[in-house]
Amino acid sequence: MVRLYDSLSGTVRELRLRDPGRVSIYVCGPTVYDFPHLGHGRFTLVWDALRRWLSYTGLEVTYVSNITDIDDNIIARANRDGRTEAEVAGEYEDHWWKAMAAIGVARPTHTPHATEFVAAMVETISSLILRNIAYRTSDGVYFDVSRVADYGLLAGQPLESLRAGARVEMVLEKRSPLDFAVWKNAKAGEPSWPAPFGDGRPGWHTECVVMSLDLLGPGFDLHCGGMDLRFPHHENERAQASALDLPFAQHWAHNGWVMVGGDKMSKSLGNFTSLTDMLAQTDSRAYRLLVLRSHYRSPIEVTPTTVADAERSLERFDAMARRFDVPVHRSENFARSRELNWSEETLALLDRVGALLENDFDTPQAIATLFEALTVANAAADGGEMDRGRALAHAIGSLLAGLGLALRGEEKADIDGETALLVRERDEARAGKNWSEADRLRDELVARGWKVEDGSAGTIIRR
Ligand SMILES: [Zn+2]
Repeated sequence: MVRLYDSLSGTVRELRLRDPGRVSIYVCGPTVYDFPHLGHGRFTLVWDALRRWLSYTGLEVTYVSNITDIDDNIIARANRDGRTEAEVAGEYEDHWWKAMAAIGVARPTHTPHATEFVAAMVETISSLILRNIAYRTSDGVYFDVSRVADYGLLAGQPLESLRAGARVEMVLEKRSPLDFAVWKNAKAGEPSWPAPFGDGRPGWHTECVVMSLDLLGPGFDLHCGGMDLRFPHHENERAQASALDLPFAQHWAHNGWVMVGGDKMSKSLGNFTSLTDMLAQTDSRAYRLLVLRSHYRSPIEVTPTTVADAERSLERFDAMARRFDVPVHRSENFARSRELNWSEETLALLDRVGALLENDFDTPQAIATLFEALTVANAAADGGEMDRGRALAHAIGSLLAGLGLALRGEEKADIDGETALLVRERDEARAGKNWSEADRLRDELVARGWKVEDGSAGTIIRR
């Protein structure tokens, strides 16, 4: 079973599953008021690769990632552009999914929108008020962090030291500077929802705790997000569940920063201005390889130079796919790859890479191992052992596909990476008997000009 670093315990430990054979994952999604930036690209690629890998190993993955479609930034943008909040959120959500499709990030199983869950959030906040854990002020409802005994566990700091470091805000009615808004009272011209404690809108930290528990149930397996969310966002999510005696995420995983020229990524920095901008200039698969070549907890440097380097590495794998006729658009899984009755050498490669990924998702070592195997495959073929080379190449292609990296073979050169991923997603949907999703993906392929057939080994597409 996979072992992952758990931010709560501070150790690499086994990801224990609530339901055998099934993994439940919640990943904090975007607030949609601008184009996705490089940091968005990284976290979605990291957790998409993990999700795909877990499903490659035979687990059934339920993956929930939210869309924050109401917040201060969306309201500010709507005011600036003279549009409604719903229009702003709708437009930037479209940009989001376009960018996700381009980098081959599969749609989450569920994509809850904050505005669809306000009633459930109102209920949670009512319970917190009833238990005297949340209190009303003139501008909203605040959570009293002193009511949670182990507040600060995820941040890795006790309450007193967090309190000493907190900046003093202007909300004078707050009992502690660390207390956070679970509800913001309605202001003129802003969207609001009815609540017994006064009309208004929910706070971000309440959104994620309510939606994750609603869709995944108490004690779900894994909560993921960028390192920057660890505190206060995730601490505050955990505090609310804890205050209501609800078992929350059993394992917490956080990915590292994106650096640009040695600086922590921020939206105003960088030579690529956004993920959308980067995708317009580069092979859309290159960012995934760049992400996989670093450990998910380490910072990565994303510049035109590092992306171009990833593109060159990708070309080596593509050349392998052409030389050895590696199938690029079939659904992949570990069991099937092993069943294909390959050589001891290929089985050893599958096992070695599998073991690396199970060890805190060590993708850099896994990718390095695949490059070494690629060199062996080419040398074998050069020396006349074509079958040996081909077997290795097919195993490499299968493992890369298991991490979401679709190769481009020669005679299928007109199948772009996005199309290959749609085919694979459709095969996954069919394998999971998710017929409506399979139909939706077929329609999407047809809309791209493909004829779609169902073969015994999966979806077959032709022009
Ligand atoms: Zn969240």
